[in-house]
Amino acid sequence: MQDHTEKSADKAVGYIDSVYCGSGVDGAGLRCVVFFSGCNLRCPFCHNPETLVKRGEQTDADALAARLLRYKPYFRRGGVTVSGGEPFLQKEFALALSARLKERGINVCFETNGHITDAELIESGDLIVDVKNQETNDLSVYEQFFEECVRQKKDIKITNVLVPGKNDDREKLCALASLVHRYFPKKSVYFLPFRKLCAQKYEELGIPFPYSDIREAEEDDVAAAKKYF
Ligand code: SF4
Repeated sequence: MQDHTEKSADKAVGYIDSVYCGSGVDGAGLRCVVFFSGCNLRCPFCHNPETLVKRGEQTDADALAARLLRYKPYFRRGGVTVSGGEPFLQKEFALALSARLKERGINVCFETNGHITDAELIESGDLIVDVKNQETNDLSVYEQFFEECVRQKKDIKITNVLVPGKNDDREKLCALASLVHRYFPKKSVYFLPFRKLCAQKYEELGIPFPYSDIREAEEDDVAAAKKYF
Protein backbone atom coordinates (compact mmCIF):
# COMPACT_ATOMS: atom_id res chain seq x y z
CA MET A 1 0.00 0.00 0.00
CA GLN A 2 1.30 3.44 -0.88
CA ASP A 3 2.35 5.56 2.08
CA HIS A 4 0.68 8.95 1.87
CA THR A 5 1.92 10.19 5.25
CA GLU A 6 4.41 12.81 4.12
CA LYS A 7 2.56 13.59 0.89
CA SER A 8 -0.49 14.75 2.85
CA ALA A 9 1.39 17.90 3.82
CA ASP A 10 -1.80 19.92 3.93
CA LYS A 11 -3.14 17.64 6.67
CA ALA A 12 0.28 17.09 8.25
CA VAL A 13 -0.48 13.51 9.16
CA GLY A 14 2.05 11.28 10.84
CA TYR A 15 2.71 8.28 13.02
CA ILE A 16 3.48 8.34 16.72
CA ASP A 17 4.24 5.51 19.10
CA SER A 18 3.28 7.21 22.36
CA VAL A 19 3.15 10.33 24.50
CA TYR A 20 4.85 10.48 27.89
CA CYS A 21 4.47 13.31 30.34
CA GLY A 22 6.89 13.97 33.15
CA SER A 23 10.39 13.75 31.68
CA GLY A 24 13.03 15.92 33.30
CA VAL A 25 15.90 14.90 31.02
CA ASP A 26 14.71 15.62 27.48
CA GLY A 27 15.22 19.37 27.30
CA ALA A 28 14.74 22.36 29.59
CA GLY A 29 12.36 21.92 32.52
CA LEU A 30 9.62 19.34 32.81
CA ARG A 31 8.69 17.91 29.42
CA CYS A 32 5.98 16.07 27.64
CA VAL A 33 7.67 13.72 25.16
CA VAL A 34 6.11 12.58 21.89
CA PHE A 35 7.73 9.50 20.39
CA PHE A 36 7.47 9.53 16.61
CA SER A 37 7.49 6.14 14.89
CA GLY A 38 10.17 5.17 12.41
CA CYS A 39 13.92 5.47 12.41
CA ASN A 40 16.60 5.58 9.71
CA LEU A 41 19.17 3.94 12.02
CA ARG A 42 19.37 0.66 13.92
CA CYS A 43 21.58 1.44 16.90
CA PRO A 44 22.45 -1.74 18.79
CA PHE A 45 21.86 0.00 22.14
CA CYS A 46 18.52 1.54 21.14
CA HIS A 47 16.37 2.20 24.18
CA ASN A 48 13.15 2.51 22.17
CA PRO A 49 13.06 -0.48 19.79
CA GLU A 50 9.27 -0.18 19.65
CA THR A 51 9.66 3.07 17.68
CA LEU A 52 11.95 1.79 14.93
CA VAL A 53 9.25 1.00 12.39
CA LYS A 54 6.81 3.58 11.11
CA ARG A 55 3.59 2.21 12.53
CA GLY A 56 1.44 2.81 15.57
CA GLU A 57 -1.05 5.60 15.99
CA GLN A 58 -1.79 7.77 12.98
CA THR A 59 -2.70 11.30 13.92
CA ASP A 60 -2.53 14.82 12.54
CA ALA A 61 -0.71 17.82 13.92
CA ASP A 62 -3.89 19.62 15.02
CA ALA A 63 -5.18 16.66 17.00
CA LEU A 64 -1.80 15.94 18.55
CA ALA A 65 -1.22 19.58 19.49
CA ALA A 66 -4.67 19.72 21.11
CA ARG A 67 -3.87 16.56 23.09
CA LEU A 68 -0.54 17.97 24.24
CA LEU A 69 -2.08 21.29 25.22
CA ARG A 70 -4.18 19.45 27.79
CA TYR A 71 -0.95 18.76 29.69
CA LYS A 72 0.13 22.38 29.61
CA PRO A 73 -0.20 22.88 33.39
CA TYR A 74 2.45 20.14 33.84
CA PHE A 75 5.08 21.64 31.57
CA ARG A 76 4.56 25.35 32.04
CA ARG A 77 8.28 25.93 32.60
CA GLY A 78 9.36 23.17 30.24
CA GLY A 79 7.71 22.20 26.98
CA VAL A 80 7.24 19.43 24.46
CA THR A 81 10.09 17.26 23.22
CA VAL A 82 9.65 15.41 19.95
CA SER A 83 11.67 12.21 20.04
CA GLY A 84 11.43 8.76 18.54
CA GLY A 85 12.47 7.02 16.44
CA GLU A 86 13.80 9.85 14.33
CA PRO A 87 11.44 12.85 14.27
CA PHE A 88 13.13 14.43 11.23
CA LEU A 89 11.87 11.55 9.06
CA GLN A 90 8.34 12.98 9.25
CA LYS A 91 9.16 16.49 8.20
CA GLU A 92 5.78 18.06 7.42
CA PHE A 93 4.17 16.51 10.47
CA ALA A 94 7.02 17.67 12.72
CA LEU A 95 7.00 21.21 11.30
CA ALA A 96 3.23 21.51 11.62
CA LEU A 97 3.25 20.21 15.19
CA SER A 98 6.05 22.56 16.15
CA ALA A 99 4.26 25.55 14.59
CA ARG A 100 1.01 24.78 16.36
CA LEU A 101 2.69 24.39 19.74
CA LYS A 102 4.86 27.45 19.37
CA GLU A 103 1.94 29.64 18.43
CA ARG A 104 0.51 28.67 21.83
CA GLY A 105 3.73 29.73 23.52
CA ILE A 106 5.06 26.21 24.13
CA ASN A 107 8.77 25.46 23.89
CA VAL A 108 9.53 22.69 21.39
CA CYS A 109 12.66 20.56 21.36
CA PHE A 110 13.63 17.88 18.82
CA GLU A 111 15.73 14.90 19.81
CA THR A 112 17.49 13.79 16.64
CA ASN A 113 20.28 11.46 15.56
CA GLY A 114 21.73 14.24 13.38
CA HIS A 115 21.78 12.15 10.22
CA ILE A 116 19.19 14.29 8.41
CA THR A 117 20.33 17.85 7.79
CA ASP A 118 17.25 19.91 7.09
CA ALA A 119 17.49 23.67 7.62
CA GLU A 120 13.75 24.14 8.22
CA LEU A 121 13.58 21.41 10.84
CA ILE A 122 16.75 22.61 12.53
CA GLU A 123 15.21 26.07 12.73
CA SER A 124 11.88 24.86 14.08
CA GLY A 125 12.82 24.05 17.66
CA ASP A 126 15.53 23.54 20.26
CA LEU A 127 17.77 20.60 19.45
CA ILE A 128 19.29 17.64 21.23
CA VAL A 129 21.64 15.74 18.91
CA ASP A 130 22.82 12.29 19.90
CA VAL A 131 26.12 11.35 18.25
CA LYS A 132 26.33 7.65 17.39
CA ASN A 133 29.98 6.61 17.41
CA GLN A 134 29.67 3.20 19.04
CA GLU A 135 30.10 1.16 15.86
CA THR A 136 31.98 3.56 13.62
CA ASN A 137 34.90 5.97 13.56
CA ASP A 138 33.41 7.92 10.68
CA LEU A 139 31.66 10.96 12.13
CA SER A 140 31.53 12.92 8.86
CA VAL A 141 27.74 12.65 8.72
CA TYR A 142 27.54 15.16 11.60
CA GLU A 143 29.65 17.80 9.86
CA GLN A 144 26.85 18.99 7.58
CA PHE A 145 24.37 19.00 10.45
CA PHE A 146 26.63 20.95 12.79
CA GLU A 147 27.57 23.37 10.01
CA GLU A 148 23.90 24.21 9.54
CA CYS A 149 23.45 24.64 13.31
CA VAL A 150 26.40 27.04 13.40
CA ARG A 151 25.01 28.94 10.39
CA GLN A 152 21.75 29.36 12.30
CA LYS A 153 23.56 30.13 15.57
CA LYS A 154 21.64 27.32 17.28
CA ASP A 155 22.65 26.52 20.83
CA ILE A 156 22.24 22.76 20.58
CA LYS A 157 22.74 20.12 23.23
CA ILE A 158 24.93 17.19 22.21
CA THR A 159 24.55 13.79 23.85
CA ASN A 160 26.36 10.49 23.48
CA VAL A 161 25.45 7.07 24.86
CA LEU A 162 28.58 5.86 26.60
CA VAL A 163 28.97 2.12 26.07
CA PRO A 164 31.84 0.33 27.85
CA GLY A 165 34.23 -1.26 25.40
CA LYS A 166 32.56 0.44 22.43
CA ASN A 167 33.14 4.19 22.64
CA ASP A 168 34.80 4.89 25.99
CA ASP A 169 38.39 4.54 24.79
CA ARG A 170 40.79 7.41 24.24
CA GLU A 171 40.63 7.28 20.44
CA LYS A 172 36.83 7.47 20.29
CA LEU A 173 36.60 10.19 22.93
CA CYS A 174 39.31 12.32 21.29
CA ALA A 175 37.56 11.99 17.92
CA LEU A 176 34.26 13.03 19.50
CA ALA A 177 35.83 16.00 21.28
CA SER A 178 37.58 17.04 18.09
CA LEU A 179 34.33 16.91 16.09
CA VAL A 180 32.32 18.86 18.66
CA HIS A 181 34.98 21.50 19.32
CA ARG A 182 35.52 22.13 15.60
CA TYR A 183 31.99 23.55 15.46
CA PHE A 184 31.28 24.48 19.09
CA PRO A 185 34.61 25.32 20.77
CA LYS A 186 33.16 25.68 24.26
CA LYS A 187 30.57 22.94 24.18
CA SER A 188 30.62 19.82 26.28
CA VAL A 189 28.92 16.51 25.59
CA TYR A 190 26.30 15.05 27.93
CA PHE A 191 27.16 11.41 28.32
CA LEU A 192 24.23 9.08 28.80
CA PRO A 193 25.39 5.90 30.54
CA PHE A 194 24.46 2.77 28.61
CA ARG A 195 21.60 0.98 30.40
CA LYS A 196 19.83 -2.28 29.77
CA LEU A 197 16.37 -1.46 31.13
CA CYS A 198 15.10 -1.79 27.58
CA ALA A 199 15.99 -5.52 27.42
CA GLN A 200 12.41 -6.44 28.28
CA LYS A 201 11.09 -4.42 25.33
CA TYR A 202 13.30 -6.44 22.96
CA GLU A 203 12.01 -9.64 24.53
CA GLU A 204 8.40 -8.55 24.08
CA LEU A 205 9.06 -7.58 20.46
CA GLY A 206 10.79 -10.91 19.84
CA ILE A 207 13.94 -9.27 18.49
CA PRO A 208 17.50 -9.70 19.76
CA PHE A 209 19.07 -6.96 21.90
CA PRO A 210 22.48 -6.63 20.22
CA TYR A 211 24.26 -5.21 23.27
CA SER A 212 22.70 -7.57 25.80
CA ASP A 213 26.12 -8.93 26.87
CA ILE A 214 27.78 -5.56 27.34
CA ARG A 215 28.00 -4.20 30.86
CA GLU A 216 26.13 -1.05 31.85
CA ALA A 217 28.14 2.15 32.21
CA GLU A 218 28.80 3.43 35.74
CA GLU A 219 29.31 6.92 37.10
CA ASP A 220 33.08 6.37 37.01
CA ASP A 221 32.93 5.66 33.28
CA VAL A 222 31.05 8.90 32.68
CA ALA A 223 33.45 10.86 34.89
CA ALA A 224 36.43 9.48 32.94
CA ALA A 225 34.83 10.37 29.60
CA LYS A 226 34.04 13.91 30.72
CA LYS A 227 37.75 14.58 31.20
CA TYR A 228 38.15 14.82 27.44
CA PHE A 229 35.89 17.89 27.31
S1 SF4 B 1 18.63 6.76 16.28
FE1 SF4 B 1 17.65 6.59 18.29
S2 SF4 B 1 15.68 5.60 17.90
FE2 SF4 B 1 16.94 5.30 16.07
S3 SF4 B 1 17.89 3.29 16.39
FE3 SF4 B 1 19.31 4.85 17.15
S4 SF4 B 1 18.86 5.03 19.34
FE4 SF4 B 1 17.11 4.00 18.37
